[in-house]
Parts: sequence; structure tokens; C-alpha cells
Amino acid sequence: MGVPEIFGENVFSETVMKNKLPKDVYRSLKRTIDNGEALDIGVANVVANAMKDWAVEKGATHYTHWFQPMTGVTAEKHDSFIAPTSDGKVIMEFSGKELVVGEPDASSFPSGGIRATFEARGYTAWDPTSYAFVRDGTLYIPTAFCSYTGEVLDKKTPLLRSMDALNKQALRILKLFGNEDVKHVTSTLGPEQEYFLIDEKVYEAREDLKMTGRTLFGAMPPKGQELEDHYFGSIKTRVSEFMKDLDTELWKLGILAKTKHNEVAPAQHELAPIFSTTNVATDHNQLTMEMMKKVAQRHGMVCLLHEKPFEGINGSGKHNNWSMSTNTGVNLLDPGKTPADNAQFMLFLTAVIKAVDEYQDLLRLSVASAGNDHRLGAHEAPPAIISIFLGDELEGIVESIVHGEKAANGKKGKMRLGVDVLPEIPRDSTDRNRTSPFAFTGNKFEFRMPGSSFSVAEPNIVINTIVADVLEQFADQLEKSENFNDALQALLSKNLKEHRRIIFNGNGYSREWEEEAGKRGLLNLRNTAEALPYFQLDKNIEVFRRHGIFTSRELLSRMEIAQENYKKIITIEARTMVDMAKKQIYPAVNAYIAELCGVADGKAAYGADVTGDKALISRLSAGNAQLFAAVSELEDTLREGERHSLAEEGAKFCAYRILPVMERLRAAADDLERDTAKDYWPMPTYADLFFSVE
Ligand code: ADP
Ligand code: MG
Repeated sequence: MGVPEIFGENVFSETVMKNKLPKDVYRSLKRTIDNGEALDIGVANVVANAMKDWAVEKGATHYTHWFQPMTGVTAEKHDSFIAPTSDGKVIMEFSGKELVVGEPDASSFPSGGIRATFEARGYTAWDPTSYAFVRDGTLYIPTAFCSYTGEVLDKKTPLLRSMDALNKQALRILKLFGNEDVKHVTSTLGPEQEYFLIDEKVYEAREDLKMTGRTLFGAMPPKGQELEDHYFGSIKTRVSEFMKDLDTELWKLGILAKTKHNEVAPAQHELAPIFSTTNVATDHNQLTMEMMKKVAQRHGMVCLLHEKPFEGINGSGKHNNWSMSTNTGVNLLDPGKTPADNAQFMLFLTAVIKAVDEYQDLLRLSVASAGNDHRLGAHEAPPAIISIFLGDELEGIVESIVHGEKAANGKKGKMRLGVDVLPEIPRDSTDRNRTSPFAFTGNKFEFRMPGSSFSVAEPNIVINTIVADVLEQFADQLEKSENFNDALQALLSKNLKEHRRIIFNGNGYSREWEEEAGKRGLLNLRNTAEALPYFQLDKNIEVFRRHGIFTSRELLSRMEIAQENYKKIITIEARTMVDMAKKQIYPAVNAYIAELCGVADGKAAYGADVTGDKALISRLSAGNAQLFAAVSELEDTLREGERHSLAEEGAKFCAYRILPVMERLRAAADDLERDTAKDYWPMPTYADLFFSVE
């Protein structure tokens, strides 16, 4: 079957709805989807029944409210459609109420202290803006998840709220520019997903990968990514079969999987979809990650989504391509051809610049995690400092608006918005500048800091909210102005002047930038423990409150969840290291030492030269002693850490006390690995892992 035929075949899409629903019901549902109008229960009953009939035709026996709690993965509880009849049989039933709300027990999902156990009830509410779909015999209904008292416990609810906030403020701006026909503005998202594929046999033999998703030990093999021969290289048969299978699965689910290629590191690959609305793109990205794992299994491989599975080669990120689009199909970050369009573009661009500068901390902490800490600032991913790349052309325009020295279009004098046409801005400017965390790429911004295993909800909640906030300030000022063009000119010039410090076109990996950024007063939050407390700043609590995204309690609960999570991950990693070092590495090295001692004794009996054996024996013995000392230190430090009951203290303890000991332990083990015979080393090496898929 061709791709157009299979695309979306398992999705209760617009077309299916149109076919299966009575006209008036369809129209009513459409109003709910497009304008957020409440759905009447009579309509919900008809929709539910049609959905059920369609799903049963597709082989479904169950339905589930699919939601995104704060665990970072999706959750589902399956109920069957069966209802008993009086003659002892069953029929398949699904009511409007079952479609619209669900009541999973919420007590075991992270809530950061919001929900006391006596109020364990939570509920899920259907999100009709994201289509239901059938997977493995179950009808999946995308839903938002709240506590019974209405507090958000998930990632979808705030994302939808942030999209609403952005819509509201962007519409005000568009109106000022005379765009009365636009009814709706939505944020758009195309997340590029990086991942590793390794053979399941080597995976199974690594306790660290199984427990933590990353390797905690491993000396670099002679060949890593130096030759850069993997990037865009020809794809191995087994991998390309996986990719083909994955594409098909994703297409069936209506996911616009578009690009696939090898990445820089050995065994690393990427998949990018065609962008869609942020809400749908977020759901689709969750599904993509799940399908990657599942399809890999089918091919005897394991898909690693961790941000840094291996030290010494690149980690994986998720480039978050973001823009805003009108219901009339206009991309608001596309520079225009006429002076009026240009002025509008410059206003939206300026809003993003100001928002990113004022809320560097929120952006930074939206991508903070134990895994991503190994990546950011490690000369392979953007630094932990937030800055914006605009490219020379746009920066020239910004400068001429600010300074009025020489306009970018060659004319003398200050660039006059609404009079001057911007010079053509090349779409894919030649300098792609991979080192910038927040890069303008012609008609969208690419936020490159999110980690590969993240839900993209978090960063987009922040981007939508902070941009909405600035747009609100701009709209407030401009709506009051007597002369729109003069007011606009003054507003842009003032704001670009105030926030140009965030613009940086140079090399984000360089030491000089770190210094320069310090001089400019930009934040450099090196790790998660340092970043997370910024949640509590008044300005941050306020911006979410103002736009109805989070109450202060909801926001602080998220900080606590993130801190606890960080602590748990590092503690598990540390314990896994202790276990592997004591039970695998130390005994293996001892066994090798014993073998060498025997050999040396034997050789000595024949008067042979044993200097090499002796040297190696003492090196290994000293190394193993060092390993053991580091293990003991790590055990002691872990015990000491248990005393920290406050989340913030606990997170800092992990960052500054536990991680350094883990690094020492790893260094000792990696030295031993370099000196130990291959047959004795108790786990697959980096070479085995990197080149495991043939
Ligand atoms: P790369 O950055 O690797 O060169 P592309 O430029 O092709 O890749 O695009 C990367 C991603 O950006 C794709 O997922 C694409 O759909 C997405 N994208 C393109 N336009 C927009 C937009 N207006 N809004 C959001 N995402 C977009
Ligand atoms: Mg990209």
C-alpha cells in the first residue's frame, strides 16, 4: 500500500469524523476543536459511539485516556468497551461521559506536595484538539490531567493554556497592524529527535544502561567520532530497515515523519517531522519516542534516548523549532516583502528577543535535568548560557533601528519601520551556527537546548508564555498611542537597545564568549541544581500567574518534582556504580592479577624476564585499590546525602558532593579497563557498543 493510503489510517481524523458523524454533530465538534466551545453531552454521546464503532473496526477492544503526568513519560489505563447484557452476553459500549472525563487514581503520580493522599482523586479531560488514535487494540484518547481540586498535574494543560495566552496577545498585535481577518494564532513546533541504536545483546550485558540509560563506565576506544564519517553517512541495512518500519508506524498514526539521517556520533541518528501545532507536535513527539523504543526491539536493537549515553562522543538533543502561525496560513516570523509586513515581523522578532533576555532563567530551567547537564556546555551542544543568533543581516537591521547610523538597506539615517523595506533575509543563511542555543533560522527560532528524552511541553510552555507576556506589554502601549508608526518605531528602538545584549552571532563554545557573556550580565547556570531555584523568583511566579498558566503553588510543585527527580536519578546512578564496581570490576581485575601472578611465577622458575608482568601487576593492584577507595567514599557520601530532606539541598548535595566522587570512581575504572585483558573485562566496551549494529 502507498504512503498516502496508510497515512493516518489509525487516526480518528477530521476526514473520519466528517464521514462518521451526522452533519450537525460534526459541526458542533468542529466548533469545540477550533474555538474551544464547550461540548454538549448529547453531542459527546454521538461522537463517543462513532469513535467506538470506528475503533472496533480497527480491532480495538479497549480505550484509554492517554495523559502526560510529571514523570516525563505518558500514562495510560485501559478499560474495555464491554458491557454485560441480560442474556449473559456483552456488547461494546462507550458513552460521551467516558470519552470526556476519566478518573484515574492520581496518588502515585508526582505532584510535588500538591495533592495530599487523602485527596487522591485526579481526573483526565479529553483534549479534542489532538486526534484520538488506535494502537495495539486500544483506542487512545489524548487527555489533560488535573487534581480533583483543579490543579494541574501534567504537561498538556499548561501547554494548552500557554497557547491560549499567546493567541490572545498575538491577535491584539495583528489587529493593530490592520489584520482583522485573522481569527486565531497558534504556536507551531517541529522537534528534531536524536537517538542512539545499539544491539540488544550488548545492552543486556551492561547493568548501567539497563538501570540508568547511560554508561557510567567506559574507556574511549581508538576510534570515536574523530573522522566524522558517520554524519549523513550511508545507513546500515539493519538501521535502515528499522527506520523504514518506524516511518510506517508513525505515518499510520498520522505523524508527519519527514527526515532521517545518521548523526555525528557512531550509532547516533535523527528523525525530524514536518511541523504542526505545538500541542499536536508534543503528543506526536511522545508517541515517536515510544515507537522508536518499540520498533527497535522488533529489530533486536535498543533505542537510547538518554542525553548522554556515552562519554567522549556527542550526546542527543531535541531541536525545538518554534514559530507562530495564523489560521490564514501566515508565519508571523517570516520577514515580509512590504514595509508594513516588515514592521509587523520586526515587532514579533523584538518580542522574542526581549522575552528570551528577560526570562533566560526560565528557558534554562525548562531544559534542566541530570541527563542534559552532561550535554550543555560540553562543546557539542549549546552552552548553558542563553543567547540568540540572528545572523549578520538581521543583526545589521537591529543595529540600524537602534543606532540610526547607517541603515542596512544602504540608506543614510535611522531605519524607518513602516517606510523602509527590509533587505531580503536569506532563508537558510550560510552560517548555520550550531553553537547557538536560540537561533533564528530564516522563519522560525530553533531552541537547541532541550534534551533528547524530554517532553517538549516544558520548553514550549515557557516560550509561549514569555512571548505572550511581552506581546501584551507591546499591545498595551501601542493601543494607547496617538501615532501608531511613531510609537512603534520608538518601542522597537527602545526594546532592541535594552535587550541587544542577548544577541550573539559568534562561537558559543569559546571561552571568550563565557567571559563576554559574564560582562554582559547574562546568566550562566551550569547545572540543574543551580538552575531550578530560579523557579521561585517573583518575576517568574508572576509571569505564569498573570497569564493563568500556573498558580504559584503549581509552579513551586514543579520545582520540587524536578529537584526530587534530579536527586533520585543521581542516587540511582551512584548506587549502580557502586554495584558494578564491587561486583564486576574489582573481582575481574583481581582475577586478571591472579592470572598474571601465576604467569610471572612460572616464568621466573625458568629465569625468564618478568619485569613487564611485575609492573602491570603493581599498576593493576594500585588501580584496584584506588577503585575500592572511591567506592567506599561514594558509599559514605550517599549515606551522608540521605540526611538531606529538603529538595533544594538534596539537589545541591548531588551536584557538588556525589557527582565528583562518581567521576573519580569512573576515572579509576576506566584506567583499569585500559590495562585489563579483553577476556577479563566484565562488560562490553565502548568499541563493542559503538559498533554493535552491523
Ligand atoms: P535543520 O535544522 O536540520 O536544517 P530544517 O530546517 O529542515 O532542519 O527544519 C527543522 C524542523 O523545523 C522541521 O521539523 C521543520 O518542520 C521545522 N519547521 C519548519 N518551519 C517551521 C515553523 N514555521 N514552525 C515550527 N517548525 C518549523
Ligand atoms: Mg536543526
